Amino acid sequence: MFVSRCLDVNSHGHLTIGGCDTVELAQQFGTPLYLLDEGEVRRACASYRESIDRYYGGKGLVAYASKALNCKALCRIMQEEGMGLDVVSGGELYTALSVGFPAEKIFFHGNNKTPRELQEALEAGVGQIVVDNLTELELLSELAGGQGRTAEILLRIKPGVDAHTHQFIRTGQIDSKFGFALETGEAMQAVERALALPGVRLKGVHCHIGSQVFDREPFEAAAEIMVQFLADIHDRWGCQLEMLNLGGGFGIKYLSDHNPIPYGQYMEGVSRVVKEVCAQRGIATPFIVMEPGRSIVGAAGITLYTVGSVKTIPGIRTYVSVDGGMTDNPRYILYQSEYEALAANRADQPKDTVVTLAGRCCESGDLVGEGMPLQQVRPGDLVAVLSTGAYNYSMASNYNRVPRPALVLVRDGVPRLAIRRESYEDLVRNDL
Ligand SMILES: *Cc1c(COP(=O)(O)O)cnc(C)c1O
Repeated sequence: MFVSRCLDVNSHGHLTIGGCDTVELAQQFGTPLYLLDEGEVRRACASYRESIDRYYGGKGLVAYASKALNCKALCRIMQEEGMGLDVVSGGELYTALSVGFPAEKIFFHGNNKTPRELQEALEAGVGQIVVDNLTELELLSELAGGQGRTAEILLRIKPGVDAHTHQFIRTGQIDSKFGFALETGEAMQAVERALALPGVRLKGVHCHIGSQVFDREPFEAAAEIMVQFLADIHDRWGCQLEMLNLGGGFGIKYLSDHNPIPYGQYMEGVSRVVKEVCAQRGIATPFIVMEPGRSIVGAAGITLYTVGSVKTIPGIRTYVSVDGGMTDNPRYILYQSEYEALAANRADQPKDTVVTLAGRCCESGDLVGEGMPLQQVRPGDLVAVLSTGAYNYSMASNYNRVPRPALVLVRDGVPRLAIRRESYEDLVRNDL
């Protein structure tokens, strides 16, 4: 019935998540409110982990891409789940380290890490700095040398697989701000430089082909290209790089007609390809890293809003305005992302209207969605927007000086506050 199995409807007709009544949660914590089912998050981690055990003899690591949602509570959960962690900024790194997340299991990504961020990563002993370009490579070598350290690095490669098109393209995807291109020879030159420079140790290669991808084929194509590259490196320089990081991007269910494959299936296909190519080319199988972000937290989260005004423009549309919008979920205004919504306090009733769910900001484009089926709602009703666990809190802003909502974790009927709601004092804290 729902896009996520952590959702249900109780005998009061109220939507529940992780066994908690959303109407009670709204009363207790206020709205707008982010809710995340911790059990669902842990199950997603386990299914990726198990797929590496099952299909690849456990020779791998699942690193949660924390830009999807990064906070202390989630970093602790990832540590407990034995996951690695992707960070893309000093702030995400700081959050992870502040709860004692093991630095050796961290991957530091980004196409323009600042010298200070690189310094911080070196000082923390980050296990994998994913180097994006030659400027960064030279800088890192210098910084590490200056500290008497050796940076463990991966190189970010553009494998030439564009998973965003309907029929994914195998070549020609060199127009990206991220990484070294394979087909121009740039990637091999970067390998040569990394092998020659002091202060860095080349541990492996990395790629990330896109996001919200439903097919297995682009991942298998990228895996094949990357293993061929590892074999080319072996043939040319006589060195066997130990790590192959194949990125994330696995699709999730936003709408009822989205049908993501079980997460384990990606690893099934990828490990088969990797083993085959390694055998053909006579190299040892690498340690594989997968980096799911959206598919760990996305479907486990919902956002609760309170309805303010309901404005019907005859013959045009009905605007249902809620107490949040682009400040807590900018994905519609950024990408016209589609979501499902329902009236959380009358979730047992049929969705017999179609509405435009509008945010509260002074911006006509501030919508949560258009053409959304919804129950008849009145001012004071609660609306839940589903599958908002990823790239919502982490993309939230204070536009119009709207404080960010709280984030509550729910598990087996018990709520736990993970991030407090911002106050007006928080908004002016840095104002002079
Ligand atoms: C964003 C990102 C991911 C995660 O992507 P999802 O679509 O959230 O799974 C993984 N790796 C890298 C390098 C990324 O930039």
